[in-house]
Amino acid sequence: MSTPHTNKDNTAAAEVVKPTNFLRNIIESDLDKGTYAQRHWGGNPGDATHHQQGIVDPAKIRTRFPPEPNGYLHVGHAKSICLNFGLARDFDGVCHLRFDDTNPEKEDQEYVDSIIDAVKWLGFDWKDPDGHENLYFASNYFDFMYRAAVYLIEQGVAYVDEQSAEDMKANRGDFGRPGVNSPFRDRSVAENLARFAEMKDGKLPDGAAVLRAKIDMASPNINLRDPAIYRVRHAEHHNTGNTWCIYPMYTFAHPIEDALEHITHSICTLEFEDQRPFYDWLLDHLREGGLIAAPQPRQYEFSRLHLTYVITSKRKLKHLVDSGLLAGWDDPRMPTIVGLRRRGYTPESIRNFCERIGVTKDYAWIDYSTLEGCLREDLENKAHRAMVVLDPLKLELTNWAEVFGSADHVEPCSLPALPHAADGEAVPERHFTIGREVWIEREDFAEVPPKGYKRLFPGNKVRLKGGYVIECTGAEKDAEGNITKVLATVVPDTKSGTPGADSVKVKAAITWVGVQDGIEAEVRLYDRLFTDPQPDAGGKDYLALMNPDSLKTVTAYVEPSLKAARPDDKFQFERFGYFVADRKDHSADKPVFNRATGLKDSWGK
Ligand code: ATP
Ligand code: MG
Repeated sequence: MSTPHTNKDNTAAAEVVKPTNFLRNIIESDLDKGTYAQRHWGGNPGDATHHQQGIVDPAKIRTRFPPEPNGYLHVGHAKSICLNFGLARDFDGVCHLRFDDTNPEKEDQEYVDSIIDAVKWLGFDWKDPDGHENLYFASNYFDFMYRAAVYLIEQGVAYVDEQSAEDMKANRGDFGRPGVNSPFRDRSVAENLARFAEMKDGKLPDGAAVLRAKIDMASPNINLRDPAIYRVRHAEHHNTGNTWCIYPMYTFAHPIEDALEHITHSICTLEFEDQRPFYDWLLDHLREGGLIAAPQPRQYEFSRLHLTYVITSKRKLKHLVDSGLLAGWDDPRMPTIVGLRRRGYTPESIRNFCERIGVTKDYAWIDYSTLEGCLREDLENKAHRAMVVLDPLKLELTNWAEVFGSADHVEPCSLPALPHAADGEAVPERHFTIGREVWIEREDFAEVPPKGYKRLFPGNKVRLKGGYVIECTGAEKDAEGNITKVLATVVPDTKSGTPGADSVKVKAAITWVGVQDGIEAEVRLYDRLFTDPQPDAGGKDYLALMNPDSLKTVTAYVEPSLKAARPDDKFQFERFGYFVADRKDHSADKPVFNRATGLKDSWGK
């Protein structure tokens, strides 16, 4: 749905099509081959027996989005959400929302709630064809994870290592040097089982021992050099309380979570590519042992979103919030979903953005203007137009009483609220009035016009958009020489939309708001948060690169149609861009509007 306006913006010009990608190809091929056709689904997550007793899975594929509830989701997560939920939707599958809460610290209900909200707001759900909700918490799988660890010990492929942390690190080797076997590596199964039970029973302090998979200390892939799979951690967990004092490592927990949920395609970012051999090693063992259902999940990697002028590390974003540099996770400058939402982004614009940037394995930076282009494109035919004056200067029409018979006379005016009508509907209109005094932009008057200036200067005529042609006659100044009021005369019979209105030719039409019906409003002019396109790449200090002018607040006058604005309503303020009524602070008595984006791509210009 391109429009002439957005076509000027080269980033938004591409058609919204669903390009194929390597993941779609893999899924199509799996569906053709029937790889997953015979899978059974036990109705909820579980082991092999549980799923075998279930029905043939009505979901053709299962994907998952597995956030750790330790922060708010950001635009990078949106890419992963749109990908995983989008593939499930397009291939008659289901995408699970799984909280990866196996780490006892840092996790919080506030984050859980915000993540659920964000995924719903983006327009996705996690329901089976029968309506069952696939919302899961990885911490509910701790019992099975323990059982899986015991099984590995019994098979002779896991052992309790009690080397010091330093020795363990030194003995791991590095890229050029193979590792050295731990002196604990050849413990008997019985000894390992006993020692692991002691770990679980709280007999060992934090850091005293870890359970390791026994694979190959000389493997060229360091992730296969006997990776740790369980550690001792005497910490309370938000879900399981003090039941456990040992916790699984992420690399052990994640494949098991996927397997219990019978995920078919486990899609993650490229950093996990080197973990895939361990993912397969672990699930091969558990499947061969009959612990998890077949066919087991497969992991696929794609490159994460790198967006210019944005940071997407939860840790760094948390710092911006905790240090008070920004107003919260939903500060409209934050690249979080709640921040984008408050800034005026729509779910459609974010989904289109994710579609447009595609899915590859390439390392690439996406220009921020691509995201803005998607928002403009979505709002172009949806957001009602309005005139506002952001830097108000009063203008008086000195012949008003003479022309209209009274200084208090007001004339009704109207303009279209949208450039085009929706199918079968009339173009909506907005109404306002003009009287003796109007607010204009300070920059629309020049006492001495610079070359090429077409707006107000003594002797020049312009049109007040949707109102009359006026002719500037001069200005009033204060003692310091500042302009306090512009003076002009109204040209009779030139009201927009009346016969003969165009008989007087002008070179410019300026935006304005009537003094008698304009509404005072707070307008928050947001700009990019960082001055550097890659603020945290290559070890840069992102805090030193923050844009000091990322927020400018002005008291503006807005046209009376905006009296009806409700929080979250979006508008195009003519000539200034797209704005949203702030979802937290806006009220009819105290209107507050946030700038979402300018009208055209001005980045780097
Ligand atoms: P951070 O390092 O900022 O905490 P994370 O990747 O650890 O982020 P998770 O909660 O573990 O955050 O992420 C959930 C999912 O979102 C993961 O599957 C992860 O791959 C994906 N994801 C996170 N950041 C991005 C990104 N920039 N682009 C694409 N996917 C991402
Ligand atoms: Mg993570």
